[in-house]
Amino acid sequence: SYDELKKSTGSFSQANQIGSGGYGKVYRGTITGGQVVAIKRAQKTSMQGGLEFKTEIELLSRVHHKNLVGLVGFCFEQGEQMLVYEFMSNGTLRDSLSGKSGIYLDWKRRLRIALGSARGLAYLHELANPPIIHRDIKSTNILLDDNLTAKVADFGLSKLISDTEEHVSTQVKGTMGYLDPEYYMTQQLTDKSDVYSFGVLMLELVTAKPPITKGKYIVREVRMKMDKSNEEDYGVRELMDPSIKNMAYLTGFKMFIQLAMQCVEDSGSDRPSMSDVVKALETILINDG
Ligand code: ADP
Repeated sequence: SYDELKKSTGSFSQANQIGSGGYGKVYRGTITGGQVVAIKRAQKTSMQGGLEFKTEIELLSRVHHKNLVGLVGFCFEQGEQMLVYEFMSNGTLRDSLSGKSGIYLDWKRRLRIALGSARGLAYLHELANPPIIHRDIKSTNILLDDNLTAKVADFGLSKLISDTEEHVSTQVKGTMGYLDPEYYMTQQLTDKSDVYSFGVLMLELVTAKPPITKGKYIVREVRMKMDKSNEEDYGVRELMDPSIKNMAYLTGFKMFIQLAMQCVEDSGSDRPSMSDVVKALETILINDG
């Protein structure tokens, strides 16, 4: 209930605020039974916001997977709109990669995060009914729980697509640097747009930098390196996050880069599906022991 959520967050106090995003502010709270939760509280709601909120609830109530941030409940009382999620104690992947959260992610951990996120996305694309395109895959939408398990968050931009429709035409939404250029040009959304964003995310796991750094796009940087270099690692090691650079084993590194670059192919039809990506990452993880 509203009163319980209000109490659990100290009346939505500044001290309990953990972030803010598209919907409004996000608070940490503890609900009856002791479960720690993240409460997304919508800004005073417009019609548009209300619709978006309802869409998110409908989606999330149908979707359950280990690698998706679970919806614990929601509240639609006293003019308030709130979503209650399981609390992800280790914050966003971006905060870890930037060193902000003080969590060190070694290469193997990064592989596991890639695999977990890929499984969550593959589930949305292939097992959710109807299929769901996330539309905003990025490192701030990958959250880490106590065990550093990666979970995909924020379905606010998701759109349901029906079984029969190949794609849906919509207004382009997404985040610069992660946005599929083909989708941007054609405005035809398919699951391959998420695959593109996921490829960018994979490169981000390697470099630890956001996809556009000092005006340069990571996808283009890596492509240039690969065109020029015939070295074993494509010369991509130069772009690598210094804190993982000196890892002795990195047998799957080349495969990882190849996979990422397949995901960011210009044409969606040349990109793998998310379940292909899951299989490839599983192989890499086994090889890297
Ligand atoms: P955006 O709309 O910009 O994607 P969100 O509204 O999803 O942002 O979340 C804003 C911030 O709140 C996130 O960057 C994250 O730090 C925090 N947050 C969101 N959901 C959770 C959660 N389930 N557990 C812990 N922190 C969360």
